[in-house]
Amino acid sequence: MARRKKIYEGKAKILYEGPEPGTIVQYFKDDATAFNAEKKAVIEGKGVLNNRLSEFFMTGLAQIGVPNHFIKRLNMREQLVRSAEIVPLEIIVRNYAAGTMSKRLGLEEGTQLPRPIVEYCYKDDSLGDPLVTEEHIAAFGWASQQDMDDILSLALRVNDFLSGVMMAVGIRLVDFKIEVGRVYDGDFQRLIVADEISPDSCRLWDIETGQKLDKDVFRRDLGSLTDAYTEVAQRLGVMPRKATPVSKPTLIN
Ligand code: 5GP
Repeated sequence: MARRKKIYEGKAKILYEGPEPGTIVQYFKDDATAFNAEKKAVIEGKGVLNNRLSEFFMTGLAQIGVPNHFIKRLNMREQLVRSAEIVPLEIIVRNYAAGTMSKRLGLEEGTQLPRPIVEYCYKDDSLGDPLVTEEHIAAFGWASQQDMDDILSLALRVNDFLSGVMMAVGIRLVDFKIEVGRVYDGDFQRLIVADEISPDSCRLWDIETGQKLDKDVFRRDLGSLTDAYTEVAQRLGVMPRKATPVSKPTLIN
């Protein structure tokens, strides 16, 4: 098989040149990192789960008209995506206080916010992805005012969709991060959701028990990350549950 050209290797994914111009193959690694890569591990199966989960979320978003980069899944660890110029921002939407917001504002984790709050971080690992305001974004030209309007609208639509999908399977969407990219259709430029949507970039808590089903399991040493992600995938019907042997018909009251 011909060697593919590697375009970029990040902490959790590798990007290869795709088969057609304007396409990219996104490979999901098993590597997990936290605290700006100070904590690292290889978690067997994480890449496979995130490939499937990101496919599930991106496909659902496309079905409700939220444009995104996903084209098709190629195999267990790879998906074909549309190439996009990534806007150098991490867009975070929060429904409940947790993580850095709790620390910054002294809010107890799990406090419901009065409405979804959107934050922007400048994507730069060497600076630890600092929180920035729209003033910084405009002044440094990272995105135009029109882009910011589109980004806000995309972020809130993703939030509504993901919150609903998760709620239906007994999971609270506490917060999440997305990235967006610019694509060109002829003379027109538009923004689409890019990167990935997976438990690596969301906080997901079981509604009944509060159990964490996201990357905080790794960040805070709370157990098996693969078990947590598998639970999310199984509840969403993305991965089959192991069949329970049934020896006789069961009466349902
Ligand atoms: P926090 O700012 O509380 O650390 O993170 C808020 C949300 O954004 C969490 O769901 C977290 O997983 C996600 N997030 C923030 N920064 C990153 C990042 O650099 N990579 C990933 N995968 N997710 C992030």
